[in-house]
Amino acid sequence: MLEKIQVKKSDAGDALKGVDCLLMIGGEKSGFDVSLKGVTVEPSACWQAAQREKDPVKDFMIAGADKPVAIHCLPLKKQGETDYQRIGAAAGTRLRAKPYGSVVLALGDDLEIDKDAVAALLRGLIIAAEPKLSYKKDDKAAKPDDIELTVLHGNDALSFTKKQLKPVLETARAVLIARTLTAMPANHLGPEEFKDYCLGLEDDTLGVRVLDRKELTKQGFRGLLAVAQGSEQPAYVVELFDKRAKGKPDVSLIGKGVCFDSGGLSLKPATSMPEMNMDMAGAATVVGAMWLLTRAAKPVGYVGSIGLVENMPSGTAYRPGDVLEMRSGKTVEILNTDAEGRLVLADVLDWSAKEHEPKVLIDFATLTGAIIIGLGHDDAGLFSNSDGLSEALLSAAKAADEGMWRLPLHDSHRKAIESQVADIKQTGGRASGSATAATFLGEFVGDRPWAHLDIAGVAFTDKDTVYSPSGATGWGVMMLERLVETLSAGKVGVDKD
Ligand SMILES: [Zn+2]
Repeated sequence: MLEKIQVKKSDAGDALKGVDCLLMIGGEKSGFDVSLKGVTVEPSACWQAAQREKDPVKDFMIAGADKPVAIHCLPLKKQGETDYQRIGAAAGTRLRAKPYGSVVLALGDDLEIDKDAVAALLRGLIIAAEPKLSYKKDDKAAKPDDIELTVLHGNDALSFTKKQLKPVLETARAVLIARTLTAMPANHLGPEEFKDYCLGLEDDTLGVRVLDRKELTKQGFRGLLAVAQGSEQPAYVVELFDKRAKGKPDVSLIGKGVCFDSGGLSLKPATSMPEMNMDMAGAATVVGAMWLLTRAAKPVGYVGSIGLVENMPSGTAYRPGDVLEMRSGKTVEILNTDAEGRLVLADVLDWSAKEHEPKVLIDFATLTGAIIIGLGHDDAGLFSNSDGLSEALLSAAKAADEGMWRLPLHDSHRKAIESQVADIKQTGGRASGSATAATFLGEFVGDRPWAHLDIAGVAFTDKDTVYSPSGATGWGVMMLERLVETLSAGKVGVDKD
């Protein structure tokens, strides 16, 4: 579908010729400036029927001129940009459920719609239309790439040229990059394959740098390497940057890329292990976002650094009770080898802060189960040492319609990770488990403004969401695209509060 979308003014006559599905999005008084030649249906009657039954996406199967057309009416009550993104997603969900070949999306003539709203609608539609990653040999699920989508409207000012459509499609593609990486099973996406995938993205603007085990040893990534040492898989730190950008970056994005997390010697229960291929979702968000941000016309001062490892139990695995000296020099008492993500992130945060000297650090990690207990699957947990950075992130998340909720960092959380044998201990007990994990990370960022996003609840869900089928979501990519705006123009140097 990404290649087969048009947005144009409807011409009378053959709008529905060969079309399998008509999606109608409109307000209560909408008429539709689409020629329904040979089709005996009143769009407004459809809309009202759908309203009455409180089903915004009811099917109306009717006989068209050359074949039956499935009509879906999607009433739109509020008309903000995120409402358009959501109604687009409702349309996309319809296309995900059924593999229509040719689709017309008609916009009602009473919509207060501008080009940004059309872009939001398409963004929502494309990411919701994408089915779950499947390895079935005879998969009958909708193939969005095969769908021909024509958006019809009655207003010349809403038409998109191919060039204007490109950034909209790129945003959607970036979300799907993150989502697909997150969904891939660990035997298809280990640290080696993930690193190769990043190298495959390299182009004129996106630069990729790989630090392998030898380099990581030389650079002192002792925490990250301790996690990796139980696995026969290699370990990497991969960096993604804009080749056009000059000087120090404004923002460092750090991602947790634990490609499979067995828990290590502190082995997880069998029932919670099958989905532990997604413990690299933070890294996937960073990769999707960096791919997207480096596509923009202007260079972006963002650098992404992801730590790629596998956490396995073996004769060479690190142990509970071990004391590690991290890259920063700080010593850490290990209590639970399943709390490995913070060790990987701590070293990458320390590296990124010292190597790149960014104005701001932001990390993304499926870090704790506790965040799912606290916030469910609606919001990522935000922890930060900076009110300014938090505000920028929250407003970017709101604009992108991606849930985020700020949680506090207290002195008591720091107390909880005091150790008798090392500078700090790795975990702070059951109480405030997400906050003590965040506090641990905060020990490795120096005095820079920093934000930690615990995405364990939002990166992967067991139910369908507005924008995706159950499983991986690609959360955070759209938020980061907005963050470039909210952090730009002098606001980048967010003061640490
Ligand atoms: Zn773990």
